[in-house]
Amino acid sequence: MVSSRLFFFLYLAATAALVSFAFFSTGAARIGLFAASLVLLGFSTGVLVAKAWSANGRFGGHIGAGSHGFTPDLLNSTINEMREGLVVIDTEMRIVASNEAAQRLFSHFDSALESRPITEITRNPAIYDAFLDGVRGVERVGVKVETHGPERRMCDLRVVPLRAPSNAITGALGVFFDVTRLERLEIVRQEFLSNVSHELRTPLTSIMALSETLEAGAIDDAANNRRFLSIIQKNAARMHRLIDDILELSAIEAGNVKLHPERVQVRTLVDEVISSLSAVAASRHIQIRNLVAVEAEVFADPHRLTQMLTNLIDNAIKFNRESGTVSVTFTAAGRDRIIVTDSGEGIPSHHLDRLFERFYRVDRARSRELGGTGLGLAIVKHLARSHGGEVTVRSQFGEGSEFTIELPRQAYTMN
Ligand code: ADP
Repeated sequence: MVSSRLFFFLYLAATAALVSFAFFSTGAARIGLFAASLVLLGFSTGVLVAKAWSANGRFGGHIGAGSHGFTPDLLNSTINEMREGLVVIDTEMRIVASNEAAQRLFSHFDSALESRPITEITRNPAIYDAFLDGVRGVERVGVKVETHGPERRMCDLRVVPLRAPSNAITGALGVFFDVTRLERLEIVRQEFLSNVSHELRTPLTSIMALSETLEAGAIDDAANNRRFLSIIQKNAARMHRLIDDILELSAIEAGNVKLHPERVQVRTLVDEVISSLSAVAASRHIQIRNLVAVEAEVFADPHRLTQMLTNLIDNAIKFNRESGTVSVTFTAAGRDRIIVTDSGEGIPSHHLDRLFERFYRVDRARSRELGGTGLGLAIVKHLARSHGGEVTVRSQFGEGSEFTIELPRQAYTMN
């Protein structure tokens, strides 16, 4: 660009010299000099304009094409790396271009998509209608489509008409946004909401029925009024626990629970949990043994570890047999493991896979009767995972269960 400007000024200077000579000349020489100066002026201007055009015009000024190396190849790989499937069709409804994500969406179709009619790669009328509208000049957004490759995928399709500079329609571009994960999350959310409503409705119905009974006269029934009140209290307490557990679980899942890990003496912590549950254990004549060695240490958030062990030991008491036992042990082989073993009823093996899911219970009615929310094990699982660990279960139906909290040793040795 600099050299072309220099040339332009040199030519301009030469032109000015020729014009001055022409002024002082006469006759044919004067006409010749004027003509030569005009040619020079035109030439220098032409060079400058041509240079400027080649710098900005070829790929469009705002892309800054050549200077940033944004070549057609780079554009191609950018489009192929996109998560969204792109399909371009012509006005005959034939595919003229597609990216790799689109190829994956229609992977049941093993040859290239290009030059195929769109009806050949999908029989889905929603996709066809959206593209048809596109080539008729109508933009379509939010078209929900399902594709059946090796796995079922849900997409949100947007189709826009493509136009030539003359404004004539040359085809349509379809963008497939994969919303499979979002759809799954939506199903989980709906299931969770319906579970919560169901869990709240049962105690609430009981509270309403009993308070109406009291109001209708049972308040003066000395034989029953206190019993009714205590059932109301029990149900209100259950709703309270449920709401506490839901809030707790949501906070952990949303990553809003900050851990403060430190060296924890396992035996002391287990003793504290056992004494907080001693009244429940005593009422069922359950004996709890703390078999953890005095020197055993883990690196964990003490408050959260207490919460995990409370849930596990509480279950081991609740689902135990009368006069049964619960023992807590510790091993440090590979990972640190705190193990809660009970001599209770055990869990049928087909329940084990889903046991840590929210609201999953082997016996729903029994869990309710024992005041459970069905969220205890889900909370333990999330807390163990947020420590970089895991919780696992082994059980023998009719003989007892063993729940293990695994915590990584690295974190402990690092600090
Ligand atoms: P709940 O509030 O019902 O105790 P949890 O999430 O803590 O909810 O436990 C889910 C279910 O797992 C329980 O309802 C019970 O069926 C089963 N369970 C948990 N711990 C034990 C155990 N130690 N022995 C037998 N079953 C258990």
